[in-house]
Amino acid sequence: MQLISGTTVAEKVLEECRRDIAALAAQGRKPGLAVVLVGDDPASRAYVRSKDKKCRDLGLHSIKLELPASTTQEELLAHVQALNNDPAIHGILVQSPPPKHIDEAAIVRAIDPAKDVDGFHPVNVAKLALEDPTGFVPCTPLGCQRLLIDAGIETSGAHAVVVGRSMIVGKPMALLLMAKGKGGDATVTVTHSRTKDLAAITRTADIIIAAIGRPHFIKAEHVKEGAVVIDVGINRVDDPASEKGYKLVGDVAFDEVAPKCRAITPVPGGVGPMTIAMLMANTIKACKQAAV
Ligand code: NDP
Repeated sequence: MQLISGTTVAEKVLEECRRDIAALAAQGRKPGLAVVLVGDDPASRAYVRSKDKKCRDLGLHSIKLELPASTTQEELLAHVQALNNDPAIHGILVQSPPPKHIDEAAIVRAIDPAKDVDGFHPVNVAKLALEDPTGFVPCTPLGCQRLLIDAGIETSGAHAVVVGRSMIVGKPMALLLMAKGKGGDATVTVTHSRTKDLAAITRTADIIIAAIGRPHFIKAEHVKEGAVVIDVGINRVDDPASEKGYKLVGDVAFDEVAPKCRAITPVPGGVGPMTIAMLMANTIKACKQAAV
């Protein structure tokens, strides 16, 4: 069984980022990312902090805009507009979820698609479906694809079953896997909460992408011998033994599934570190494309 280390592959992606940043610096250019947080959700705050820190570690220009929960839709739109017009900023993301009174879809649509490094704008969703390489692909599925490629997993002709159909993970993952070329050309089945007899379907998979949001949901009975399993899930479960009182677990029951697998990602240390690395890569891509 091959343990696919997201930590190792993410470091490789970040090394590529450092090379790109140095090449851009030689031309007097510096990629810039703006992360906007509305409200004080502790998990969101932690995500924003880690994105800002990663930018700074790499030597990217980073703006962290922390706005109060009382920020109105109009005020937030004005901030997005200002960032759209800021030539030092190449990537903009508004941390999800915003407070309830904010229309998140309208905010995403207000971001300049050329700066939408999260890949959630309809223009970028369309570009993914059209296989247009100038588009931005959501960071988590892009990271999963990179893990498969780096682990030497052949996707061409493989049966890939994606469990989950969210716009952030499941749907773009399916599009990536079915696209032509490296890390694609798979035969893709997408499953979700209305799928009947999920285990019968996942048992036919050469590759399973689990993006469900339920701890240890994928069990040994869901997986055939020799399958490759990518666990996207990040779930908090109580753990009195840990200092924090909780631990993070995936959507896959790792202990019982791993022995059946040809390859599997752990949680933590799997898909998680890839997401932030791909965000850096997308920001650099936006900077490069801004100049042409
Ligand atoms: P969503 O809640 O948006 O989507 C979950 C999907 O799982 C839905 O399509 C849902 O189906 C499906 N689902 C729920 N229950 C079942 C079931 N019983 N059988 C089959 N399918 C089911 O979650 P996300 O896609 O945003 O995230 C999924 C997981 O990935 C979470 O644990 C999240 O924390 C994690 N995540 C990790 C990231 C990382 O960086 N590693 C980044 C983003 C997410 P339906 O559409 O019918 O409701």
